[in-house]
Amino acid sequence: MWQMRITSPVRHALIIKLAGLFFPTLCPVCGKNSDLLNESPFCSGCWSLMARYSGPHCRVCSLPLPSEYASVCGTCLKEKPPFSRAMTFGVYEGVLAEAIHQLKFYGQRRLAQPLGELLFTLDFPAVDGIVPVPLHRRNLRKRGFNQSLLLARILSGKLGVPLFMDILTKTRLTPPQVGLSAKERVMNIRNAFVVNGHIRNLRLLLVDDVMTTGATVSECAKQLRKAGAKEVIALTLARAGMF
Ligand SMILES: [Zn+2]
Ligand SMILES: [Zn+2]
Repeated sequence: MWQMRITSPVRHALIIKLAGLFFPTLCPVCGKNSDLLNESPFCSGCWSLMARYSGPHCRVCSLPLPSEYASVCGTCLKEKPPFSRAMTFGVYEGVLAEAIHQLKFYGQRRLAQPLGELLFTLDFPAVDGIVPVPLHRRNLRKRGFNQSLLLARILSGKLGVPLFMDILTKTRLTPPQVGLSAKERVMNIRNAFVVNGHIRNLRLLLVDDVMTTGATVSECAKQLRKAGAKEVIALTLARAGMF
């Protein structure tokens, strides 16, 4: 079996990417032979670690909470977010974080399908349309695809709900949110999105891959509500836990 020495996260990801190109039967997260190829490109060990988070969390924004006693986090208590609630599959750490990283930054589009399947373990509300969080066209050109659109398309097909892929566009190029404080993230993304189209009185499911402070989904939800949407429910694969 092909073995590797992990030297740094960047080199590890690069080795896995190259391995994926030449040896598509290897698990894209750990590099071992995948024993679940009919079901998923991940090996059974990694697949079983992609578990749904079931611990205490904010019932509005889904932020993992340290105790069962609080049901709403401090941020949501202070100010009601523009989305009615945020649903998420897991916590952004370990194998799930690595899989999302491989999808996004190493072009492993084939991971969108199994990762999208994970979302179907959640109870979906009735909605009128699915809206992916868009990338700015320059970033879309660079990456070649929008991971949120890939997930939204899987959901739309399986749930039989229309995909509104051009309703929301990112018109302003913003610096990456990584490394910014919660406040800076809000400022950074403010007025970066524009709504084109008729969404009056519709209930929308807004899809993104990862939610950290919620600045991006909040800004998107705010614009969708301003344009007349009756309700916006955010859905992400992973929530960055910050406790
Ligand atoms: Zn694996
Ligand atoms: Zn909250």
